[in-house]
Amino acid sequence: MQEQSYTNEVALGLRRVEECWKRVYADVQEAAIRSGRDPAEVRLMAVTKTVEPVYINHAVSLGATLIGENKVQEFLGKKPQLRGAYEAHLIGHLQTNKVRQIVGEVDVIQSVDSVRLAREIGKQSLKKGIVSDILLEVNIGLDPDKFGILPDAAAETACEIAEIEGVHVCGLMTVPPLDADTEKTRRFFSNMYQLFIDIKEKKIHNIDMQTLSMGMSGDFPQAIAEGATLVRVGTAIFGSRSYR
Ligand SMILES: *Cc1c(COP(=O)(O)O)cnc(C)c1O
Repeated sequence: MQEQSYTNEVALGLRRVEECWKRVYADVQEAAIRSGRDPAEVRLMAVTKTVEPVYINHAVSLGATLIGENKVQEFLGKKPQLRGAYEAHLIGHLQTNKVRQIVGEVDVIQSVDSVRLAREIGKQSLKKGIVSDILLEVNIGLDPDKFGILPDAAAETACEIAEIEGVHVCGLMTVPPLDADTEKTRRFFSNMYQLFIDIKEKKIHNIDMQTLSMGMSGDFPQAIAEGATLVRVGTAIFGSRSYR
């Protein structure tokens, strides 16, 4: 990396990303250990929405090899400029009409919130001769402003989606309500873990409950304490987002 060729502003930004990444990485390890868990069981995703490729590439070079993007167009626009070996997941709401563009371009689609969407992913995956790994998004807080399968319907919906050819169900993801206090959020995480275990124990064909994706900048230690296997952190690594 030729830092000399960057403007001072970018060079400073890169240093900041480096410091923040190292701190968040250490905090994730520490949270796992404090919860009596093996730190290797918890993956740290760098959420790169609105982040420019120069910073993403720097993070990847530091070991942030799992990245999460929210928007199909934004990710596909940045992808040609991304360098290094990374795994990318789509974590934002996916419209059926964008499925064709994203299938095969990311490693996991985490935000599958309906049977209809799963069917379209299956259909487009088969056309491309692949099977897409997906997570089911659960609206654990019954938040009217959020997407996601309702918790009571999650097990049944998972079974229905598991029947679809071209998709492989690898776990669950959630975004709890933003206005919930710490204790409430922790209860949501705990409910998610219970759901994750309940579905896992059913041992359904084509469902491998490996990933429980929950926890963001403000609450990842609590999510880890409640059993998250993947935390999605944006702001704490890249700073606050400016939607330009
Ligand atoms: C933006 C976003 C994150 C990261 O949130 P931060 O608070 O910036 O860490 C995680 N998950 C999803 C689905 C997001 O949209």
